[in-house]
Amino acid sequence: MKEALRRIVRDLRAALAAEAASPAAKAVLLPPAAPRRPPAALVLDRIAADVRACVRCGLCRSRRHAVPGEGPAETPLVLVGEAPGEDEDRLGRPFVGRAGELLTKMLAAIGVAREEVFIANVLKCRPPGNRDPAPDEVAQCRRYLEAQLEALRPLVVVTLGRVPTQSLLGTTQGILSLRGVPRTWRHAGGTCVLFPTLHPAYLLRNPAAKRDAWEDLKQVHALLREKTGSWPPPLAAPRAAPSPPPRG
Ligand code: SF4
Repeated sequence: MKEALRRIVRDLRAALAAEAASPAAKAVLLPPAAPRRPPAALVLDRIAADVRACVRCGLCRSRRHAVPGEGPAETPLVLVGEAPGEDEDRLGRPFVGRAGELLTKMLAAIGVAREEVFIANVLKCRPPGNRDPAPDEVAQCRRYLEAQLEALRPLVVVTLGRVPTQSLLGTTQGILSLRGVPRTWRHAGGTCVLFPTLHPAYLLRNPAAKRDAWEDLKQVHALLREKTGSWPPPLAAPRAAPSPPPRG
């Protein structure tokens, strides 16, 4: 009797195991697998190749090099500028002229190395004579920045100057009233904080505005630390005033 019961239990277990392993049962028991994302670095390389071959607007005829953007695929911070200038057009890299040097110093002031962030522009090819980008050029080019943000999924996007700020926020408000105020912003890859600040080229022309830029940078530093918990390192404490020399 006992042996017969054992056999029944064994057979039942085997039948249940076979049933659970069937494709139909798996479809019911297991949640559907999330679609796999290709690695961000691969996607960014593909976008860069598309940008270099792009002929979607007339700027493809006057550019020397398209400037897709550069930086690591895994970064919490993306900087978005306006468009390549003469130096960037010559070298095919973003922010490499005097404004780029200042940008590198600004980042260093909050403990961020340029190589740690992704830097891109709204427009990937230089408008002749550095004129303002035309609305149709921005509209044609927008897909590339959106695709980059979708791949990067940054926590903070800092827009540098009027053109990228107005373009991403869809406003005509001036940069001087938009800067310094963080906003929750949705892009193709999710939600992040968009933080508008002044363009380094503007700071070179208006050194007095560097004080405002520094206030903005300190906010960006605090936002990043709040979002990541540990990066960038804490700002160095302001140096204490030297003590007066001893009397006598
Ligand atoms: S500016 Fe943008 S849309 Fe125009 S040709 Fe260059 S990559 Fe293409």
